[in-house]
Amino acid sequence: MMFADLHLHTRYSDGTYTPAELVAAARSVGLSEIALTDHDTLDGCDEVEVLTVNAGIRFIPGTEITAELDGRELHILGYFVNKQHPELARELRLAQDIRQKRVRDMVARLNAREIPLSVDAVLEMAKCSAPGRPHVARALVAAGYCASLDEAFERFLKKDRPGWVPKRKMSAARALELIHGAGGVAVMAHPGLNHDDRMVYRLGRMGLDGLECHHPKHGPAAVVRYEEMARELGLVVTGGSDCHGTSKARPTIGTVKLPMTRVDALRERLAQRREGKPFAPVSGGPETITRPATTTAAVSGPAS
Ligand code: AMP
Ligand code: FE
Ligand code: ZN
Ligand code: FE
Repeated sequence: MMFADLHLHTRYSDGTYTPAELVAAARSVGLSEIALTDHDTLDGCDEVEVLTVNAGIRFIPGTEITAELDGRELHILGYFVNKQHPELARELRLAQDIRQKRVRDMVARLNAREIPLSVDAVLEMAKCSAPGRPHVARALVAAGYCASLDEAFERFLKKDRPGWVPKRKMSAARALELIHGAGGVAVMAHPGLNHDDRMVYRLGRMGLDGLECHHPKHGPAAVVRYEEMARELGLVVTGGSDCHGTSKARPTIGTVKLPMTRVDALRERLAQRREGKPFAPVSGGPETITRPATTTAAVSGPAS
């Protein structure tokens, strides 16, 4: 059997793998096809693509866009996008500027709490255009202010902690428009981390193409529920390990193996989009859900 992993990170955002390490890991777990989906950037795609060709692995360029719907964060994966598309490139650059400014704001807040971390220390840790809280956490650990990344998040970086700064995000509608405008397909990442299934129905009606049913944070019951939702909404079932390298307990690459038939379906959907074929109208939605939505008040957004 041949398998794919459609959700992977490198050092081009907050993963720890270099492109070469990622491709070597993909090879060692026997993947036939991978997509790179670094946060708010396409920077790593060219490099990873060259490496996959040499490794005999198929490659899909992608990005994981940080977006919001009704004030809640969600992540939208854009696949097969044209990396040179001016509008998408411009908006990603804007999102990266916001991330860089946010790092400066977070450091200023830490400095006000007698933590003399420097912006340069964080940017040196990140060495990429899309820095985020994990880089601040790594810099805090490297400078000896925290013993672990978990401690850095717990003490300083989680929502409403002293170093936390809210992140401005683009609307989900805009993210879908950009991905489609750049010739790609849009997939909602890890719906199980959003704790509100109604978002899936909303996005389905907005032109979403696929749903990431398979993700390490989804238990068997969640996978069944999301596959059912995808069928109901006419969405392609996708999946990925969301591997961030060795920053978390251990690399998750290889824990989600998507059958190639799913990737074929995503390509089919892409072909339909590019031909401008209309899709069957999406029915269902919040009004027609009879069971209560699964909501968790304490969680404000996805963590991966
Ligand atoms: P950001 O995009 O800057 O808000 O950072 C989000 C990233 O931080 C995600 O990749 C998460 O995996 C990571 N993250 C969020 N909460 C924690 C936590 N408590 N411990 C470690 N990493 C976390
Ligand atoms: Fe995510
Ligand atoms: Zn991440
Ligand atoms: Fe991710």
